[in-house]
Amino acid sequence: MLSKKALAISPSPTMAIDSKAKEMQSQGIDVIGFGAGEPDFDTPALIRDEAIRAINEGHTRYTPAAGTLEVREAICSKLLTDNGLSYKPSQIVVSNGAKHSINNVLAALLNPGDEVLIPTPYWVSYPEMVRLNDGIPVAVETELTNNLKATVDDLRKSLSSKSKALILNSPSNPTGQVYSKEELTAIADFCIENKIFVISDEIYEKLIYGQEKHFSIAAFNEKIKDLTIVVNGVSKSYAMTGWRIGYTASSVEIATVMANIQSHTASNPNSIAQKATVAALKGQQDSVAEMRRAFEKRRRYIFERINSLPYLKALEPQGAFYIFVSTADALGKSYRNNKLKNSDHFAALLLENQKVAVVPGTGFGAPDYVRLSFATSMEKIVEGLNRLEIFINEIK
Ligand SMILES: *Cc1c(COP(=O)(O)O)cnc(C)c1O
Repeated sequence: MLSKKALAISPSPTMAIDSKAKEMQSQGIDVIGFGAGEPDFDTPALIRDEAIRAINEGHTRYTPAAGTLEVREAICSKLLTDNGLSYKPSQIVVSNGAKHSINNVLAALLNPGDEVLIPTPYWVSYPEMVRLNDGIPVAVETELTNNLKATVDDLRKSLSSKSKALILNSPSNPTGQVYSKEELTAIADFCIENKIFVISDEIYEKLIYGQEKHFSIAAFNEKIKDLTIVVNGVSKSYAMTGWRIGYTASSVEIATVMANIQSHTASNPNSIAQKATVAALKGQQDSVAEMRRAFEKRRRYIFERINSLPYLKALEPQGAFYIFVSTADALGKSYRNNKLKNSDHFAALLLENQKVAVVPGTGFGAPDYVRLSFATSMEKIVEGLNRLEIFINEIK
């Protein structure tokens, strides 16, 4: 018998639709994929060049477990400049991607039975990582009237004596929503009052549109800073998903425990990618702005077209590169004599009949929704939406 804990982990649903779409593509079927969870741009040349230089200059050995002093200092400067946060290198732990960072945080914080508050809809990996670390994920219901963002009232309903931490994700995957300064201030007060740690996943910080601004909850006061573990990385901002670099900023106490865990499980993050990260953080930021502009254009197009279709309602994405679409008005209706049961069924019929891959909301804790990523070319987006329109027009 294998580990019960491990066997209870479900495979990532975002990966499931993706592999079905890829399988169809490999059979020569022309599938339009809205499943991508990563930028469709190449890593900027300046960063790639630095990695090549790092290899040739011999930066190919183990580094300190928490990352080199050089990369931790670069991260400290970034946090000060971008977020108004002052940290010392001893408070930074660099890991193999922000996902790994979050797992380290949970391993450092949780005792068996500790509860972690996770606002719904959530990123698919949060509940599973909590379970793997012997915690209990508690899904916090949110209201559409508040654009699916958690309020203090929502959090209070899920609070118990076992509540240990809250996972916040702004800008959010999958909803694209951004918490305002006022919303975050209220949540900060709630967490201080109830002594709850905040795991603040800020991986989409640089991808923000319109008038929205990113705030790090840790920046409001010293009390909330002490309780917060800021999680960030280079995957989304610099199109560096394959390089696997994420990091945390926290109290020295938490950082030390995390570095100890990492020293025994991963030794250190990739030495070459650490060098490339220094170049990404310290170099010119034009490529970040360029990507952001491309995403912004696609966002406007996809939002307007989806909301012009019958049965579908989408939240306007304020950040990240996803649009979260309610299919609730289509459920119970019929498509070619198939009664639409839920968003999994909607997504399956759309893929089968119109060769368009979207991710059903079930894995995000929002079964009436589907997520479309706009990290794909404008040309594909136009074609995909044309097909979606044909599909929708056959729903009766
Ligand atoms: C992509 C993503 C991450 C982590 O990315 P890494 O590649 O592991 O750095 C973390 N949180 C959310 C919400 C994401 O979408």
